[in-house]
Amino acid sequence: MSDTIIDRCESAGLRLTDQRRTIAAILQEADDHPDVEELHARAAARDSRISIATVYRTVKLFEESGILDRHEFRDGRARYEDAERDHHDHLIDMNTGEVIEFCDPEIERLQEKIAERLGYRLKDHRLELYGVPIKK
Ligand SMILES: [Zn+2]
Repeated sequence: MSDTIIDRCESAGLRLTDQRRTIAAILQEADDHPDVEELHARAAARDSRISIATVYRTVKLFEESGILDRHEFRDGRARYEDAERDHHDHLIDMNTGEVIEFCDPEIERLQEKIAERLGYRLKDHRLELYGVPIKK
């Protein structure tokens, strides 16, 4: 991974208050896909003055600056992750809502081939799989 979220905020010219800095640090450390409520719980544990409205505005700002990716995994909640994380796709456990990350070179190649066949050079994609565990 290249620059930290804080580095990228600075190069994007975003004004970083202490509260935004705390939220940025929490996002940097996250290896999951927290929603605003979860981020607020983590942020408030470090600085109780951080309100959910501040978290909401901050992630929106980071998203608009291309620093965060926003996902909605069909549960009506927006979830966030660092946009600079290595490319991966998501499988969502429909029973528990657990989000599993994967990357498959064959799928990556296949998607490029499909785009090419349709006359496009693939620049980006999102793939979400929804499933239930196979009982063993
Ligand atoms: Zn992910």
